[in-house]
Amino acid sequence: MNVAVNPGLPASLWAATALPAAPTPPLAESAEADVAIVGAGYTGLVTALHLAEAGVRVCVLDAGEPGWGASGRNGGQVIPGLKYDPEQLLARFGEVRGEAMIEAAGGAADEVFALIERLGIQCDASRKGWIQPAVSSVALRGLEQRARQWSARGVAVELLDKPAVARRIGSTDYLGAWVDPRAGSLQPLSYVRGLAAAALRAGAAIHGHSRVTALARQGQRWTLTTAQGATVRAECVLLASNGYTDDLWPGLRQTLIAANSFIIATQPLPAHLRQSVLPGGEVCSDARRLLLYFKQDAQGRLLLGGRGPFPEPRQASDWAHLQRSLTGLFPQLAGVPIEYRWSGRVALTQDFLPHVHEPAPGLSMLLGYNGRGVALATSLGRHMARRLAGQAEDFPFPVTPVRRIPLHGLQRLYLGAGIAWYRLLDALL
Ligand SMILES: Cc1cc2nc3c(=O)[nH]c(=O)nc-3n(C[C@H](O)[C@H](O)[C@H](O)COP(=O)(O)OP(=O)(O)OC[C@H]3O[C@@H](n4cnc5c(N)ncnc54)[C@H](O)[C@@H]3O)c2cc1C
Repeated sequence: MNVAVNPGLPASLWAATALPAAPTPPLAESAEADVAIVGAGYTGLVTALHLAEAGVRVCVLDAGEPGWGASGRNGGQVIPGLKYDPEQLLARFGEVRGEAMIEAAGGAADEVFALIERLGIQCDASRKGWIQPAVSSVALRGLEQRARQWSARGVAVELLDKPAVARRIGSTDYLGAWVDPRAGSLQPLSYVRGLAAAALRAGAAIHGHSRVTALARQGQRWTLTTAQGATVRAECVLLASNGYTDDLWPGLRQTLIAANSFIIATQPLPAHLRQSVLPGGEVCSDARRLLLYFKQDAQGRLLLGGRGPFPEPRQASDWAHLQRSLTGLFPQLAGVPIEYRWSGRVALTQDFLPHVHEPAPGLSMLLGYNGRGVALATSLGRHMARRLAGQAEDFPFPVTPVRRIPLHGLQRLYLGAGIAWYRLLDALL
């Protein structure tokens, strides 16, 4: 990214319907803080909120306005858990670490809805569950395992057969599904703005349009310099830049694949069509490798998202693949006009787990949510605040070195080849 500060929010359904934003003017004068945070998405703002509530002086800087990144553009699905199921986490990380990860990820949706309620954020929050359907019998067996494992931990899961899934989703493409009642839906940009307003009320400083262009350690403190030349000096720094990570810290960008995810939203559907697609108000993302995710918004528009090509989209035809998916899944929606199209960057990690790094004294990084950051960043942001405030020694996920993905410069090729390969597997299995 070679612009000094990011432009305004991209046009999207969320930008058109969100709560007004609290003022977050650019950093005009140099400032001091205990903790400086780079990135005003969920990770940065949740961490800032909890730190400010604990009496820590915190300053958040973003190259755009709060929510400019994925937090203001996502599908608004609040889904707990990780790509891995509880038994896989225990087998890989052992009892103590595995349980800590399961608790942080499994309880993440609870945290989102509790925080929204505590702060009174008006963000169309609703909690009707997540349907994860499968198009292949192999995938369906995996979902049955997933449901069994969470059920053993007290989650009131449901399993749906083909007729039931067709009724609940409104599409005959799926063989079956599991339903996770912990999940739900929100207006993602309103959630960001509510978090920003709450962090400001708690005493945090937040500055939009203040790209951090240099990060240097001087004595016991860090100095962050913005594109406009103002500085923040702080004892601790958190980089919370996820899929929009630039070259501020050498090698960090190369730990991630920043893949594009595209979304389309229809015009508000007439009542009979609203009743034909997800009439129970659940959110849905399927179990394909190249998954499709969809839900209705509060005004009855159907949103559908999925992977897109690597370059930034320029014209409506760049979303044509999603329009084909929409009418393929839901033939009843043929001819319904598309009102909004937008995209954003999802941060994928090589091991599909979020990453925490602490490569220098007082410097932390938290990123790589693999498309699950609404809930996970809310949970891990709170854990990060406790760690930075000295209230908790450990973090639920392992702290790992900054490790570049080999041949990262070829990520466009990886993604292109990976998408073609996954498309083939999705078609065959
Ligand atoms: C299209 C799309 C759909 C998605 N759907 C879902 C979903 O339904 N459910 C779900 O759980 N997750 C979803 N995700 C993922 C989720 O949105 C992210 O995991 C989450 O928002 C990450 O939050 P964050 O705060 O870590 O990063 P972001 O919200 O991306 O924020 C990073 C910020 O860092 C700033 N920044 C970067 N470099 C600098 C710098 N040098 N100086 C200052 N600022 C800087 C950027 O401007 C940006 O605002 C989706 C993502 C996309 C793109």
